[in-house]
Amino acid sequence: MDAILHDELGPAKILQLYAPELPLRAFVVVDNTALGPAIGGVRISPSVTIQEVRRLARTMTLKNSIAGLPHGGAKAGIVVDPHHPRMEEVFRTFARLIGSLPEYIPGPDMGCDELAMAWIHDEIGRSCGLPEEIGGLPLDKLGATGFGVAICAEVAAEAAGVTLQGARMAVQGFGNVGRAAARFLSERGAVLVAASDSGGTLHNPSGLALEPLLEAKRAGQSVTTAKGGEVLDKEAIFALDCEILIPAANPDVITAANQQQVRAKLILEGANIPVTGEAETALAERGVLVLPDFIANAGGVIMAAAEVAGRSADEAFAFIENRLRANTGEILDRSRRQAVKPRQAAASLARERVLQAMRIRPYTFPPRQR
Ligand code: NAD
Repeated sequence: MDAILHDELGPAKILQLYAPELPLRAFVVVDNTALGPAIGGVRISPSVTIQEVRRLARTMTLKNSIAGLPHGGAKAGIVVDPHHPRMEEVFRTFARLIGSLPEYIPGPDMGCDELAMAWIHDEIGRSCGLPEEIGGLPLDKLGATGFGVAICAEVAAEAAGVTLQGARMAVQGFGNVGRAAARFLSERGAVLVAASDSGGTLHNPSGLALEPLLEAKRAGQSVTTAKGGEVLDKEAIFALDCEILIPAANPDVITAANQQQVRAKLILEGANIPVTGEAETALAERGVLVLPDFIANAGGVIMAAAEVAGRSADEAFAFIENRLRANTGEILDRSRRQAVKPRQAAASLARERVLQAMRIRPYTFPPRQR
């Protein structure tokens, strides 16, 4: 049993779902709904576990709280290969299985796209991250999360002793988040020196041109097939010389075992929980600033909430910028004043907000009928 089971915030519900006809196995964890219906992504992976989903659901509670959204936190995982030939059936079946869980609004996560969200919406009338054609704000296409990462970098750079103009960045996981973060940070003067995906790392200390990498990904290929750099294995990216490191793929990739190799001064958690607690402590002792996931990658969920509220893309970007600028500043300030890591400062602020809401209404959903 890990620490998040049944603490003062939740989880409210843990569901295991099974549809033998496909077969489909899935988990949903609704962590807390005191702030409102819970938004959280659907992770598609043959190796996703209920423990991972539980941790990610808590991250969503804290992320939505700290972003000031009227939403609680949840997460789902479907145990399937993202290249399964019957993905439409997988998503439609999953949607029907969560039809009677009105407090959960599914969003995209690894292995999902806007179309998947549209299938879910078609079945049960609720999901976010929808295609533009049906009134959605396609957060991956618009690069909402990567935009948020770049805004956080603008605010956190100074505290980390980094000048954004000319700063060298390495992006682990050149997917939706990693690509957009690289693009928006390049626009702010940072230089991409390394990018990786499941096929390996491409590295050039003088800088990689973005377009060939984007082109390789559009063609469904690894960044290592693009020209302009040396090909290394995928683990090599953590040890490369750079000022900014953006882990934007899997959880627990920077650990006690490899944190010593990290040379960056600023780590922006594009992925959820990519740095273990032990590694974060050791990095903080070495003066490396780690901006936690529930601030650094909150751009996507802020845009998703803006979509649910019927806002435009421009309004959503303005909302992301304002919230993340203010939040990053406040967290870094609290972290300095209280002499705690940014993650602790952010978590305690997020918890305070949820607990305050729980004093007003219970965290179980739907609320009592009067
Ligand atoms: P994605 O599927 O688009 O991209 C993931 C990328 O990581 C792919 O390029 C894949 O090849 C690469 N990858 C997988 N294993 C790797 C490894 N071992 N080393 C290097 N690269 C590897 O996913 P995404 O939407 O970009 O999400 C990435 C992470 O960010 C996830 O942890 C997700 O939960 C988190 N996140 C995403 C969003 C969003 O808006 N998409 C928002 C918040 C958090």
